Amino acid sequence: KKGIVAIVGRANVGKSTIFNRIVGKRISIVEDTPGVTRDRIYADASWLTREFRIIDTGGIELENASFTEQIKMQAEIAIEEADVILFVVNGREGITKEDNFVARLLQKSRKPIVLAVNKIDDQIHKDNIYDFYSLGIGDPIAVSGSHGIGIGDVLDEIIHLL
Ligand code: GDP
Ligand code: MG
Repeated sequence: KKGIVAIVGRANVGKSTIFNRIVGKRISIVEDTPGVTRDRIYADASWLTREFRIIDTGGIELENASFTEQIKMQAEIAIEEADVILFVVNGREGITKEDNFVARLLQKSRKPIVLAVNKIDDQIHKDNIYDFYSLGIGDPIAVSGSHGIGIGDVLDEIIHLL
């Protein structure tokens, strides 16, 4: 059975950008159901010789839901379905209370978590990753979804944990 990787994180941190990078193409909207908007959620991907399925939980939306309800639902889906969780944060903004909220939800599961600090587009911002140790999730990995930097490091870690 293929391993499942779920991407989790608050809005705008770059989940979809990283998802598209990992999948290697842009995935368009696949389904639209009343109350639930399904926007480019599942795809098959591979790294080295390892094949896996990846879910962008940010594409699963509840209408009229508060931030808390929304992210809670997304984290629950990740915790239930994934073998490895890819937690994405924004390295340009530092830790927000939403990041801490997500970290606490994910920590309650026993699932392995890979922490990607996104938007580290150049070396100048690389030291920003150290703040993220205080999330208590493990070693942060610097990535730039839009430039494709660090994605290989994230995938190495993911397949190691799958
Ligand atoms: P999501 O809401 O978490 O799925 O985030 P998106 O993937 O939609 O990205 C949100 C915004 O951040 C978009 O404007 C992206 O172009 C931008 N973005 C994503 N990754 C990066 C990155 O590595 N560097 C920079 N500078 N911007 C990024
Ligand atoms: Mg998205």
